[in-house]
Amino acid sequence: MKDMQNLAEFRNEPYADFSQPANRQAMEDALRGVHAKFGREYKLRIGSEWISTGDRLNSLNPSNLKEVVGVHHKATAALANRAVESASAYFPTWSRTPAADRVRMLLDAARILRRRKLEFDAWLVYEAGKTWPEADADVSEAIDFCEYYAREMVRLAGPQKIHQLPGEEDELVYLPLGVGVVIPPWNFPLAILVGMTVAALVTGNTVVLKPSSETPTIGAQFAEVLLEAGFPEASFTLLTGSGAAVGDVLVQHPKTRFVCFTGSRDVGLRINELAAKPQPGQIWIKRVVAEMGGKDAIVVDAASDLEKAVDGVLASAFGYQGQKCSACSRAIVHAEVYEPFLEKLAPKVKALQVGPSDDPRYYMGPVISESARKSILQYIETGKKEGRLIAGGSAAPGDGYFIAPTVIADVEPTARIFQEEIFGPVLAVSKARDFDHALELANDSEYGLTGAVFSNDPGHLRQAREQFHVGNLYFNRKCTGAMVGAHPFGGFNMSGTDSKAGGPDYLLLFLQAKAIARKV
Ligand code: NAD
Repeated sequence: MKDMQNLAEFRNEPYADFSQPANRQAMEDALRGVHAKFGREYKLRIGSEWISTGDRLNSLNPSNLKEVVGVHHKATAALANRAVESASAYFPTWSRTPAADRVRMLLDAARILRRRKLEFDAWLVYEAGKTWPEADADVSEAIDFCEYYAREMVRLAGPQKIHQLPGEEDELVYLPLGVGVVIPPWNFPLAILVGMTVAALVTGNTVVLKPSSETPTIGAQFAEVLLEAGFPEASFTLLTGSGAAVGDVLVQHPKTRFVCFTGSRDVGLRINELAAKPQPGQIWIKRVVAEMGGKDAIVVDAASDLEKAVDGVLASAFGYQGQKCSACSRAIVHAEVYEPFLEKLAPKVKALQVGPSDDPRYYMGPVISESARKSILQYIETGKKEGRLIAGGSAAPGDGYFIAPTVIADVEPTARIFQEEIFGPVLAVSKARDFDHALELANDSEYGLTGAVFSNDPGHLRQAREQFHVGNLYFNRKCTGAMVGAHPFGGFNMSGTDSKAGGPDYLLLFLQAKAIARKV
């Protein structure tokens, strides 16, 4: 590990500047290159065995439903069982692989991702419907997770500072847990998948990775990166397919040691419940890391820079079509500036262009799927009854799942669109009597993921620091865009276990500590 001690300090990966003609050209080339690979078939892999089940899963381009981005095979319950058995068989070998070797592989994975950055951007544009800048932020974050966790592993593999009793040599070492089932969502199809997978691997656990069935191609592409970086085939399995079909088997298997999940509240709670029940032959309590939904609020105070607040709300509510767990879905505005806020917000929302995400003229692309589109449109209809429609309010034209950015004002806290996660481009705006009331409304949620306050009043910011109950709180800026290292990410209450991805506590979730005392 000595040669690893001199790694350069962690720095966030810079974003591509697409205003530069050369970068735009390079991105156009990457899009063409990826488009030419559409329709390729990807197999499942358990150890060194590549498997076709014949039960196919076509991953579509949500901007253009005629296009099949990749063809995948759906795993079966029997394969899910085999995947856990195989991961369990390799765990003793992988867990004893020196940490320095695992760290080296991870740094190599970061280098490969960096080399293929625009190509991955293009996969995200096509399979997840991300605009160019959103895709580039996702891929940059994936690189950040690799670089950050590599450094964290160096720290945790080294000597730990503990008190030394007289007459003893006292030591604390961190050991991996065992087989980890990793279940990411589609909305950060690279960054979250990468972060959870490499955190588990670099700490010495073996992994069964089940990418979201909405974005399996990106998962399969990243699996190729891991193999190229030297991670042994047996260290992780790629198990594509439906979470509902194989999820229970993976979670309940007695050899599963932990589950690392990011996704919706209901699936997270189900996993937590199933994992809690010991199965015959199981000799541990399974650990569950579950990061779930959000109903994030931005509070706009009377004394605030209204232009900046409007822009912060706009970016947080409609970036990636509102499909971020951190997205602002509630703007809570002080009565004194409520109408001026709406007057400034409405024309800006109406001016947002919606269209295919490979065309950089559009600020917003499609939502992810037909079921998402249907559910969001239903919420919009509900919202029209629960408040005053200010902008949007319908689907948008095109060959994909397009929805106009929608704002509904005068929303009461009892409204469904105030309480339930919609996960689409829908913003509810509510009026607060004063700042105390604004914080009360902001906290009136079962979730507690991100939040922001726009205020020029230092006393109000201090109050929000203490009372606004969210895992990630931002002042005078948007509530999306957490950066690895600077903003460890995870939420309170029904938003999950607050595991703080991209922070110094994260890798400990994949480790157990052993204390060793020797009489001298
Ligand atoms: P989802 O819960 O539908 O799916 C997440 C993953 O779980 C997918 O891989 C899916 O295939 C799998 N899955 C589905 N049913 C399963 C089952 N019964 N057992 C095991 N796995 C199963 O969520 P989604 O639609 O992919 O993602 C959107 C959700 O994720 C939103 O609620 C969003 O807020 C949340 N999210 C949270 C964070 C965070 O850090 N808190 C980050 C991103 C997304």
